Amino acid sequence: MRASLRKGSCVAAVTADRNAVGALKGLGRAVILLGPPGAGKGTQAQRIAKRYELPHLSTGDMFRDHIQRGTELGKKAKPLMERGELVPDEIVLGMVEDRINQPDCANGFVFDGFPRTLPQADDLERICRNNRLGCTIVLHMVVDHALLMRRLTGRRICKAGGHIYNVYNRPPKVEGVCDFDGSELIHRADDSEGVIGERLAAYDRQTVPLVEYYTDRGLLSPIDGMAEADTVTESISRILDGAKAAR
Ligand code: AMP
Repeated sequence: MRASLRKGSCVAAVTADRNAVGALKGLGRAVILLGPPGAGKGTQAQRIAKRYELPHLSTGDMFRDHIQRGTELGKKAKPLMERGELVPDEIVLGMVEDRINQPDCANGFVFDGFPRTLPQADDLERICRNNRLGCTIVLHMVVDHALLMRRLTGRRICKAGGHIYNVYNRPPKVEGVCDFDGSELIHRADDSEGVIGERLAAYDRQTVPLVEYYTDRGLLSPIDGMAEADTVTESISRILDGAKAAR
């Protein structure tokens, strides 16, 4: 039996499919963190990836890597990212499909920052069906815009390992230095007030429609993203533990 996206039928169909092919490691599903910039998607994705042994994918990190390596893709993405605009779907989709088709994603993955538009969501569902992954689990991180501004302007990211800090409420022990690996902490250029406004506007315009898209398919779980990071992790873990037990 194939995974179906029709509302209500998805979980049962996937469970039957998994039973037919035998036990698989991991969740066997794509986990999507949906939410505005600064909602805590990166922090939570890192934790989920570790706990459930899933690869952590981030389109933002992929683009930053392309920019650093000076690739053609990076040259196209750079000016858009600097302005806080989304990179066009045709550029995003090829890059994402190549990544999801790598063997380490065969038993699921956690995605932070993708999908961000309706065509991207459609494409993700197509790729997951082709790769015989179960229904997507969408964790919708709900946070006020005022709090997002504070989180983003205070955010610092470790250069080597991507560990995330905030100068206001989660500072490193030594200013500018990662507690875990001693590497330099970076303040992203697009985490400045001017660009954040455009990023939030892009979110409202292009990404918010995904809330209805996934709600209609019965795939969306709202998460209170205003809570402390550990409390958010507990809420998410309850959902994912439930999904794992249902396999
Ligand atoms: P992030 O690190 O997720 O905040 O992404 C940083 C920037 O990368 C965004 O402001 C966009 O310019 C670009 N970007 C990341 N993911 C996507 C995506 N799925 N679709 C389009 N643009 C993206």
